[in-house]
Amino acid sequence: MIYDLSQPHFNGAPQFPGQPPNATEYQQFAAEGEATVERCTFMTHSGSHVDAPFHYLPELPTISELPLAHFYGPCVAIDLQGMPDEHGINADDLRKHESLIAGNAMVLLKTGWGDRRRNTKRFLTCWPYMSGDGAQYLLDRGVKGMGIDALSTGGYPEKHAESDAHKLLLGANKLLLEDIHIPNALLDGKRRFFMALPILIANAGGAWVRAVVWDTGDLERESPVEQVGPVIPDAVAAQITLMREPA
Ligand SMILES: [Zn+2]
Repeated sequence: MIYDLSQPHFNGAPQFPGQPPNATEYQQFAAEGEATVERCTFMTHSGSHVDAPFHYLPELPTISELPLAHFYGPCVAIDLQGMPDEHGINADDLRKHESLIAGNAMVLLKTGWGDRRRNTKRFLTCWPYMSGDGAQYLLDRGVKGMGIDALSTGGYPEKHAESDAHKLLLGANKLLLEDIHIPNALLDGKRRFFMALPILIANAGGAWVRAVVWDTGDLERESPVEQVGPVIPDAVAAQITLMREPA
């Protein structure tokens, strides 16, 4: 099985508050006698993306300076659904999953936020985030990095809530994967493999990814394996203009 964890980019897609709006439009269009070409304006930290250490720490590597091996490896998903809004995920929360959080795994944190990705005040400002205490726990467990199904590793709106975990994890050259969707099927405690290769943007602190997880060994098969996702909810699909005929 291969799982697509990517959240879609589209006109007005949800993103960390206070940034210029996401925009995607047809620049020219096959139904009007041209080849179809889109023009996109997105912040690098919107939609499913990875953070490079340079994002918070200017002396550390950018996206284009990191080796490919930074962006793939073993992974495990843990279930953190049901936490209070704006909760700082701490060491005690993570210790409940201690047997899974080990051995250089990428830890994928399911808060449930990725299932309700909409431009609502709650989604945009109230997600449970990684606290500095929780980040230190992840470092002590020796993980490869973490992914979260919310807009950022850190929280909103307090400055320290946003920066503490970022600085600790990026300072230790850990991978941060943000704004993903985590299917419930991954919450079975099984170790799998993930890859989230960034678009090669020179000298950037972050970049968009197509984030995928698969059952170990599945991609070596000769025939394509069954796919789960991506999930584009109806409410989102309604906001994506698909033009097959002239407007
Ligand atoms: Zn980011």
